[in-house]
Amino acid sequence: MYLSHLECPRCGREQDAGKPANLCDCGSPLLARYDLAAVAKVVTPERFPLRPADLWRYRELLPVADPRHMTTLGEGWTPLLRTPTYGAEIGVADLMVKDEGLTPTGSFKARGAAVGVSRARELGVERIAMPTNGNAGAAWATYAARAGLGATIVMPLDAPTICRRECVAAGADLRLVDGLISDAGRHVAALVADSGGAIFDADTLREPYRLEGKKTMGYEIVEQLGWQVPDVIIYPTGGGVGLIGIHKALHELRELGWVGDKLPRLVAVQSTGCAPIVRAFAAGEDRARPWADAHTVAFGITVPAPLGDELILAALRESSGTAVAVDDAEILADLRDFAAREGLLLCPEGAACLTAARQLRASGWIRAGERVVVLNTGSGLKYPETVDVAGLPVLPA
Ligand SMILES: *Cc1c(COP(=O)(O)O)cnc(C)c1O
Ligand SMILES: [Zn+2]
Repeated sequence: MYLSHLECPRCGREQDAGKPANLCDCGSPLLARYDLAAVAKVVTPERFPLRPADLWRYRELLPVADPRHMTTLGEGWTPLLRTPTYGAEIGVADLMVKDEGLTPTGSFKARGAAVGVSRARELGVERIAMPTNGNAGAAWATYAARAGLGATIVMPLDAPTICRRECVAAGADLRLVDGLISDAGRHVAALVADSGGAIFDADTLREPYRLEGKKTMGYEIVEQLGWQVPDVIIYPTGGGVGLIGIHKALHELRELGWVGDKLPRLVAVQSTGCAPIVRAFAAGEDRARPWADAHTVAFGITVPAPLGDELILAALRESSGTAVAVDDAEILADLRDFAAREGLLLCPEGAACLTAARQLRASGWIRAGERVVVLNTGSGLKYPETVDVAGLPVLPA
């Protein structure tokens, strides 16, 4: 294993990666660091196509030492689809969608869960707990069951009911809260504090390895493009783990010498019903203030106070990217428009990225001929209410 230590991106303090860790003493999330010079000596990009089609193909850049601890359901290596018909319609001829809908548990959260659970198991954790908007809880409950760990999941009542079912099916201790993910977070913090160390807090960015799983989306995009980077990557941002992860992955690839100096511009997409990052980005601030009365059809990005705000905003600025808020009516219209043109049913969070692509092209921020990759973070099948089938004609028997 090439994991060397944990590092605080805010105060620079280093920590031992050999025991379970949460936040730095200064309150910032921690980032996993690797001996990249050693990795570059043992593996080169040509080796990857010979490996299994899952995220463990990047094992030298992941934090699991013993292969017996790798908990997998085949996550990763999702298709990067060309979408020329819809692309032509919005003036982005080279538009591609990375379809995370094919991931186990129906969302890219499985990437974070596979790596996070594997590492937790390796470090001797026996029970994890987390607040969730649905998909993360479903994924962590599923991988925890596979790894033989206990899972306590706290979820808002409004989260997609399929995610509840996934947690219960996986034998998790599921608790519902009549509130938002931030309310669920307070319950988890209390449970963890009262457990005397028996429960490990696996909340978004409160442990460093979920990010490591999600960063593999960045490696895959680059490998699938023949070790080239696109011009723009558009990501639906809730907690921001995927965006921070893709940014981290791109920097690791650059340090490894596997891509050139020019990196993609990163775009954070939020809903106008919950846009703390967009507001902070527009105001030129380093931190985001909590969003009041958060509400959107894109449930996975309803995060009023993301813990990773500083890291998200830094990634956007450092990559010359931007942040865009889109409204629910447009998200749903684009979701249906895209499905009818390209035959892929997106999740609302993924559709929000198309709305953003359309708007950024119209404003000229995306230039003609640029290669744009959109993340469809989950399966449209988990959100049956996005397509209305009431009033269809019924034939007599
Ligand atoms: C969790 C989630 C997001 C947001 O992911 P972050 O990495 O936390 O920003 C986007 N889409 C879906 C479908 C999700 O479940
Ligand atoms: Zn710190």
